[in-house]
Amino acid sequence: MIGIQPDEISSLIREQINNYDQTVCTSHIGTVVQSADGMARAYGLDQVMMGELVEFEDRTLGIVLNLEVNNVGIMILGNSRTIIEGTSVKATGKIAHIPVGKNYLGRIIDALGNPVDGKGDIYTEDTSLIEPPAPGIISRAPITEPIHTGIITIDSMIPIGRGQRELIIGDRQTGKTSLAIDTILNQKDEGVICIYIAIGQKASSVRSIAHILQEKGALEYTTILSASSEESAALQYIAPYTGTAIGEYFMHQGQSVLIIYDDLSKHATAYRQLSLILRRPPGREAYPGDVFYAHSKLLERSAKLNPKLGGGSITAIPIIETQASDVSAYIPTNVISITDGQIFLSGDLFNSGVRPAINIGISVSRVGSSAQTKAIKKISGKLKLELSQFYELETFSQFTSDLDRSTKNQLARGQRLREILKQPQYSPIPVHEQVAIIYAATNNFLDDIPIKNIKQFIEYLKTTIKNRGTKYTKLIMKSKDLEEKTEQALKELIIEAKESFATHST
Ligand code: ATP
Ligand code: MG
Repeated sequence: MIGIQPDEISSLIREQINNYDQTVCTSHIGTVVQSADGMARAYGLDQVMMGELVEFEDRTLGIVLNLEVNNVGIMILGNSRTIIEGTSVKATGKIAHIPVGKNYLGRIIDALGNPVDGKGDIYTEDTSLIEPPAPGIISRAPITEPIHTGIITIDSMIPIGRGQRELIIGDRQTGKTSLAIDTILNQKDEGVICIYIAIGQKASSVRSIAHILQEKGALEYTTILSASSEESAALQYIAPYTGTAIGEYFMHQGQSVLIIYDDLSKHATAYRQLSLILRRPPGREAYPGDVFYAHSKLLERSAKLNPKLGGGSITAIPIIETQASDVSAYIPTNVISITDGQIFLSGDLFNSGVRPAINIGISVSRVGSSAQTKAIKKISGKLKLELSQFYELETFSQFTSDLDRSTKNQLARGQRLREILKQPQYSPIPVHEQVAIIYAATNNFLDDIPIKNIKQFIEYLKTTIKNRGTKYTKLIMKSKDLEEKTEQALKELIIEAKESFATHST
């Protein structure tokens, strides 16, 4: 009989104890106690953080928005019908993030970064927080480079710089989206990456925007993020933050990014809906008290980074829809105060045929003029002055019929100026052509052309520059200034265009 030595046993036990290695795996699991309208309340998730991602039984994700005494409020990111009372929900320990990467270009995605264009999966190498902190003061650089919209009125009188936030504001159907789309189209040769974020739009409008961008060759440098009106309020609320996270990826690579938020009025409405369901106390116009914060933390993320950080930038163009031009409503005043300038679109101008319907008198850009190229800066001062005198005179002259000769002349010139600023949709004008058009108008070259023919002449001038203006184009592209020899070349071009226009139109 083999005897078992007691000390042998104890050494075995001791060895086992020493080698005892157990990874303790704890997970915080809670239970849904209420679920309605895209929001859920869960009991038992004591340790979750604000903004943490949680996963429901059927793998739908959610974001924790409210931490209360014995339950947490969760925004459901997906189909909320399968989430009912009793569904279990697991904390993930991670703050909400999405995949980011260059493969998003040319794609249409939803608010969580999933493709919705049927072109297959998007492979990405990185992930990013949906709401990282905005760049601080030290990380930023002054705004010195322009971003050209291709709209004469904006580039000459309300210039936008890279890293700026410029608001487009106006009533419904005044051409807000069209301005933004034209700006995207104009980035074709400028190396700017564009992100169009559609919040609460009709899915069909987003489709047609995608179609236009594709047709004009602009989709390849653009990502369209769509949280359309049939999507839940949660997805509409989160959409601008995820879209900006994708933009930040490119900004940190040193690239220039343009983000369109179309529109933040609908974003505010989605946030109001979420907050009311969460039973947060309503404030002015029933919006939650922190709706200002929701927009300011978003727009604060656009920046021009300093050269040490790569010098990339995010330029933000948020859009706000007003009711009957009331800019003193809650959301418009909020966003006006956050942005660095605004472009007002007027329904009256739009209906009287002035399109784009920009009200120049009350539109401003607070930082863009330091980024404007010298050439356009030189000639836009005169344009602005003459236009504002014209508007004043026009109102005044409505009350009288006998005007003296000089007033009549001034009115006629003003009308010509207004004519050159009209632009059809989807036809942004490159800056060197803008300079030529404004130069011709402010230096009396158009005075002998009847107003009804101005549009036609502009087209003529543009073709002349394309076909015969190599010298002028080269000079202005190189120095970005209107030096004497450039001006001379331009004058010759304008005279040439006028001569051939006169022979062809008679
Ligand atoms: P909504 O309030 O519905 O979002 P919106 O303000 O974004 O409207 P758009 O959808 O851009 O306006 O334009 C409204 C209509 O005006 C469209 O049918 C568009 O084709 C037309 N439009 C916009 N800009 C111009 C322009 N420069 N010239 C001619 N038509 C234009
Ligand atoms: Mg629109």
